[in-house]
Amino acid sequence: MQQPNGIPPQSTAAAVTPATTRLSTSRTLPLQTHDLGTFDDLVGLVSGGGVVVLSGAGLSTESGIPDYRGPDGTRRVEPMTYGEFAGSSEARRRYWARSYIGWQRFNAAAPNEGHRVVTDLQRAGYVGPIITQNVDGLHQVSGATDVIELHGSLDRAVCLTCGEYTSRIGLHERMTEANPGFMDRFEEAAHVVGSQWGEQVRPDGDIVLADALVESFHAPRCLVCGHDTVKPDVVFFGESVPKAVVEQCFSLVESAGAVLVLGSSLSVMSGYRFVRRAHQRDVPVAIVTRSATRGDAEATLRLHAPLGPTLTELRDALGH
Ligand SMILES: [Zn+2]
Repeated sequence: MQQPNGIPPQSTAAAVTPATTRLSTSRTLPLQTHDLGTFDDLVGLVSGGGVVVLSGAGLSTESGIPDYRGPDGTRRVEPMTYGEFAGSSEARRRYWARSYIGWQRFNAAAPNEGHRVVTDLQRAGYVGPIITQNVDGLHQVSGATDVIELHGSLDRAVCLTCGEYTSRIGLHERMTEANPGFMDRFEEAAHVVGSQWGEQVRPDGDIVLADALVESFHAPRCLVCGHDTVKPDVVFFGESVPKAVVEQCFSLVESAGAVLVLGSSLSVMSGYRFVRRAHQRDVPVAIVTRSATRGDAEATLRLHAPLGPTLTELRDALGH
């Protein structure tokens, strides 16, 4: 099925994935659950090595990138869906106007102690591959290797019409040339309403922005085919993670010594299915996060705790 503007609905890889695995915007989380096990149990589990880390937005909040969900698990913002983005030029203009501003803050974010500890544990041989739901690249910036970006990366963009890839930084420079003074107009508008725009950045680099500003924005066009169908190379809500990536992650989880979930509510199937698979194969699952998760029933170990201090303590306890 073609969208009204001729955009294919999704890449071929995603098209073969069953609809049930698509990211959904309508998940509800379980009620608050209690810790299961102790910090010493966590040390014992990780000391065994072969740990596959599954990280989510909660790991990057200490870098100033807010989670979609608050600590109580309720959704704070509604992200743009793939259908909206692909369905109209107006939606794409809105996305890019907001993202033009949001990405600057996003791009300036630095790894926090949590990222650094994960990297240290990987270098020390306790942690193997890192599966992340984050699109911020902060694991890699902190020096981690073998990172699988389940939801893609904001570093790249892809044209939905011709498939051409482009770097986000280059795209940003082109948007700056095409929209002289846009940042100034935004800052003036933000000042008038007393808004701290940096606090409104979302995990996907998006930001809340007034309609009048959006309407004045020139969205980027593909340098190859000229269409305004350039999309950040991230998995939107309503889209699927490429099947090959999912299979790779299943394989890693099945052969892991343990799965360590860090800062993910597991509210979307894209991450939860790996916890479920680990549980089915008797691979221990430890969850460290600020609040209840959808995978709590499958967890061997559950600690509701702030990530930075807990991971630092873990590294110390392991003697690194
Ligand atoms: Zn193109």
